[in-house]
Amino acid sequence: KGINDDPSTWKSSVPGAKHVIAVASGKGGVGKSTVSANLAVALSKLGYSVGLVDLDIYGPSMSLMFGTKERPGANENDEFLPVTAHGVKLLSMGLLINESDPVAVRGPLATRYVQQFLRNVVWGDVDFLILDLPPGTGDIQLTIVQTAELDGVVVVTTPQEVALIDARKAIGLFERVKTPILGVIENMSYFQCPSDGKIYHIFGEGGGEREAAKLGVPLLGKIPLDIATRSGGDEGRPVALEDPGQNPVSAAFRQVAEQ
Ligand code: ADP
Repeated sequence: KGINDDPSTWKSSVPGAKHVIAVASGKGGVGKSTVSANLAVALSKLGYSVGLVDLDIYGPSMSLMFGTKERPGANENDEFLPVTAHGVKLLSMGLLINESDPVAVRGPLATRYVQQFLRNVVWGDVDFLILDLPPGTGDIQLTIVQTAELDGVVVVTTPQEVALIDARKAIGLFERVKTPILGVIENMSYFQCPSDGKIYHIFGEGGGEREAAKLGVPLLGKIPLDIATRSGGDEGRPVALEDPGQNPVSAAFRQVAEQ
């Protein structure tokens, strides 16, 4: 909601994508890829056509999270043809290399891959293209903001101060290049014990809310630490595929997507 829907003013420089939304985090391991995968699936479940590009060149995880090893094709113009998994069009370095191979490329080549992933892909008119960014504020992030005009960025953090400090740095980078911050998603917000329903704030409480309030942006959602979310990621079946009426985490991702 609130995203510009007038085609004549779409500023996306990614061919074939109406809206480009980046998912960023300052720190690694906070669940940015899990959120990207589930957000993409939730948007697709809402009836949008969705592409997801994994720009974590050195640590791609989307082939695992979507349970596919299909190699993307190429057309006669040397443009990538993304693969489709769980209704989402997908491109990831993990689909171009063997699972156990390290991506041993220097910065300039990684930068070239990022540019190719943003420019030379036949997305075929997706409503939303989700960019799963690598963590941090380095070379690759700068290339991304210079290559594609983003509609906005969603920042993922845990409630823990060490994650929030890094999230602030990521937010600072996007503010500097005038990319709208669409909001904050607090992941691993709490754990609810399945046997007695008691809630534990393992990484602290309220960090995402405080940060969002400070920035004047919405807290888009709170995603609990949840076994099915972890196992869904490992087994190539994002939890957002589940019926939101039966699965509260799927419902939480659906709610984020609706915003
Ligand atoms: P990042 O992309 O920020 O490095 P990942 O999405 O790869 O983080 O998540 C790191 C690990 O934490 C993965 O093993 C993932 O399955 C797990 N994880 C992420 N979010 C949750 C969650 N809400 N509940 C349980 N496990 C999670």
